[in-house]
Amino acid sequence: MATNLEDHIEKILWTEQQISQRVSELASQITLNFSSCKSAPVAVGVATGAFLFLADLVRKIKLPISVDFVRVESYGSGTVSNGKPKISCDLKIDVTGKHVILVEDIVDTGNTLSCLIAHLKSKGASSISVCTLLDKPSKRKVNFELVGEGKFYRGFECPDYFVVGYGLDFAELYRNLPYVGVLKPEMYS
Ligand code: 5GP
Ligand code: MG
Ligand code: MG
Repeated sequence: MATNLEDHIEKILWTEQQISQRVSELASQITLNFSSCKSAPVAVGVATGAFLFLADLVRKIKLPISVDFVRVESYGSGTVSNGKPKISCDLKIDVTGKHVILVEDIVDTGNTLSCLIAHLKSKGASSISVCTLLDKPSKRKVNFELVGEGKFYRGFECPDYFVVGYGLDFAELYRNLPYVGVLKPEMYS
């Protein structure tokens, strides 16, 4: 294995600068849309992939906002979803009557989101929005429904590649890349 991280990458899809610019735009939309809400929204990051996006996003939201994490397992170490997401670590915050913004790294089949939305709905969240950095609509298998006044925010539409970086992993590596890119084929073996 090459020790220089950059040598593992075939191509960059979105640079650090492009991501930062887009995160600012999403944060401005969220700030505007939640500015008249009586209670502070709760940003719920889906661990581990959303950790960088969540950190950058909430720092640009100009409103009081709570932050929590939920952990869902569905991928193992491969690149194809097994289709049965399981919540392996639940929220700490009580979201009853709260506006929740689910923060995801990427929406692929939609299985993870539909599982999480059902879960948060059963806890009595008053609205559920989704803010995902990347969206692969071509891979969608399950259509999820937002709750209440919830909206769908997305950073970029992602082509049908397995992407890594800015939180997204392959076998728990590459999350620390500051950009999103595609691995060289030899890195999968
Ligand atoms: P879904 O349940 O929508 O199929 O997949 C959601 C999760 O699968 C994402 O949160 C992410 O962790 C993982 N995933 C889907 N596509 C990709 C990809 O291209 N790269 C990486 N690293 N993870 C992905
Ligand atoms: Mg994720
Ligand atoms: Mg993963």
